[in-house]
Amino acid sequence: MVPTEINTVLKPINDVDIRFALNSLNEYNLAMQTLGYHLLYQMLNERNDCFCERIIFPDVESIETNTNLREFDILSFSIYHTSNYFNLVAMLKKAEVPILRDDRTNADPLIIAGGPMVTANPMPISDFIDIFFIGDGEYILNDFLDLYKKFENPREHLEEFAKIRGLYIPKLNNRTDIALVEDMDKKYHTTKPIIIGNDEKNRINWTRLEVTRGCVRGCRFCMSGYLYRPLRETSVKRLVEIAEKSRENTGFNKVSLSGYAVTDYSRIDELISNLQKRGFSIEIASSRIESITRESLEQIKQSGGQEIAINPESIDRIRKSINKDIPENLIQNIIRDALELGLNLKISFMLGFSNETEQDIIELAEYIKSIVKIKNTINKDLSIKIKISPLIPKPQTSLQWDAYDMEVMESKVDLLMNQFEDMDLQFLKYSQFDITYLDESNNLKLSINSIESTFKDYVLSFAGSEVSELLLNGNLNSPITEWKKYFRAYEVGDSLPWDVINLGYRNNFLEKEHGRFKKGKLTPWCGDSPCYNCKDLCHHNPKVNKF
Ligand code: SF4
Repeated sequence: MVPTEINTVLKPINDVDIRFALNSLNEYNLAMQTLGYHLLYQMLNERNDCFCERIIFPDVESIETNTNLREFDILSFSIYHTSNYFNLVAMLKKAEVPILRDDRTNADPLIIAGGPMVTANPMPISDFIDIFFIGDGEYILNDFLDLYKKFENPREHLEEFAKIRGLYIPKLNNRTDIALVEDMDKKYHTTKPIIIGNDEKNRINWTRLEVTRGCVRGCRFCMSGYLYRPLRETSVKRLVEIAEKSRENTGFNKVSLSGYAVTDYSRIDELISNLQKRGFSIEIASSRIESITRESLEQIKQSGGQEIAINPESIDRIRKSINKDIPENLIQNIIRDALELGLNLKISFMLGFSNETEQDIIELAEYIKSIVKIKNTINKDLSIKIKISPLIPKPQTSLQWDAYDMEVMESKVDLLMNQFEDMDLQFLKYSQFDITYLDESNNLKLSINSIESTFKDYVLSFAGSEVSELLLNGNLNSPITEWKKYFRAYEVGDSLPWDVINLGYRNNFLEKEHGRFKKGKLTPWCGDSPCYNCKDLCHHNPKVNKF
């Protein structure tokens, strides 16, 4: 049931030209904690000609007026994860909207989709979607709607939409350049988010300040890093204005600083002190290991925090090869400081990089055991949660040519788990996605993501349109033999289903990064060193590195 909301928009439907359904494929709480969901809702409803309503999976009726999905002019879907694909099909089926775009007529809604998964590879759902938004959707949404309004039957004028940068139209298979917001100060920011009740602690009620977009650290497995380069920043002045306006509209003081690289923001101290002076309490949605200090851990403890989460990803050698060059002594210091302050630990690792040797896996197990030992020396009662995820390479990253190999992954997981035989790990629970063990004497929980579910994620990430058959007739629990039929692997130089999407990389940047990964070579981040001239859309460092 949807709780009572404030700042919800209602409009007389006869006064608008476009009825827009902003669909979420995730459940209510998750949808309402997503900055983009609030942003699009407010931005679209500021247009007098458009009434935007929310429909949240598994419902197919809008929260605002209880209108069924099929009654809208435009249905939009943001795709964050491959598991969203099945929810998309389920929603269309339940609302009786024809799922295949070729079966839809002018009487049916136009279906659009955006988000990171489709910006990387729209092909797996290209039989279902009329128009994809590649890149920062809100940057082109107004141009799209202005054009939409010009036609009585927009579906008959798709070639006109193809002229807008960032719109990929499967029927035309047009080569599409990514559209990215250039000026973060001029772009739309939400100042009137929907809130529920008067509880400032509820995460839905935090004002989210979009401090940065993009990240240039260059972790070689990170899809968002590659998709949304370069780093773009909102000015302190603009962020403070947005925070003040949001407080007027919500009555709340809590702001969350959001972005992939918030702690890389060039004026982070100035921003925080400005907001504190004005009485805001601040949370940083994600922070890099490098920015965690003894002081920040003390603050977590003082504000009632019980746990810190860090992602070293792997042992030092592998970490360097994936370009996540965090010094080992820094990680050790954070672990010790956190434990000394009485904080529990949650630590995530990835397994299955193609350059990993047996020795690396044995070393990873020893590394985990050494953390448990440190914990027991400092405070045996504290707990450690270790999460191990089989690596799922992603399209549009420099690891896209390293296919997922189930047999190799199984042997790597077995080898890793065999190293824990001297511990007392007992089976605790099993789910479709992971299996968890508990070592009570060491207060240690260790969970490993299921190989089958990560393999399925790989299949859906790398597929072409042929996978629509599985999406229409199967589900996440379909037997693995069904999934194997759609498995695809690529060599450097092969044509790729997503070649039609141009992220703007120059000089074979991804291929070169792949080669450097194989050789274990670092590419220092361009925030500290000169530019590698990697991308058309970036005008930062004029001094170019030899690369
Ligand atoms: S073009 Fe240069 S400054 Fe811009 S993201 Fe690439 S390496 Fe960094």
